[in-house]
Amino acid sequence: MSKKEIHKGGCLCGKARYETNGNPERSGVCHCRYCQLRTGSSFGISIYFKDEDVKVISGDLREYKYETESARDVTVRFCSDCGSSLFWQVGSFKGMTGVAGGSYDPPSFWYKIDREVFCRSGAPFVSTNIKEKHKTHPDYKPVNTENNVLKGSN
Ligand SMILES: [Zn+2]
Ligand SMILES: [Zn+2]
Repeated sequence: MSKKEIHKGGCLCGKARYETNGNPERSGVCHCRYCQLRTGSSFGISIYFKDEDVKVISGDLREYKYETESARDVTVRFCSDCGSSLFWQVGSFKGMTGVAGGSYDPPSFWYKIDREVFCRSGAPFVSTNIKEKHKTHPDYKPVNTENNVLKGSN
């Protein structure tokens, strides 16, 4: 695959469209509670590119910011019409944009996944063939207690 290969994707309603340039810098499947709540599914797929390799073509994106228990600031961008979350940036991962792996046009899953993280909260009925697996994350250092939203107790 050439470095300049363009892949396109977008949201559920079709108003937000984007393209990414080349191969990802990093990719992962994440079973953390944030990804579960963001997607409503059991895991998120994060395909990271340098910011300049992600181009928004159309759509009206809104932002939602939160801080994880590791004190990482995360900004999620989602379509203001249909709510599909398409992109995110993590404060500690400067200059990189995460793209929601399921939002690519078919054949959607053109990329390779490097690793699987936060397996501790994964659904028992999901198993993958990804070799590198982590209970949490290699850089996981919680400094705050988990938000009650994550436990469903507020
Ligand atoms: Zn939309
Ligand atoms: Zn996650």
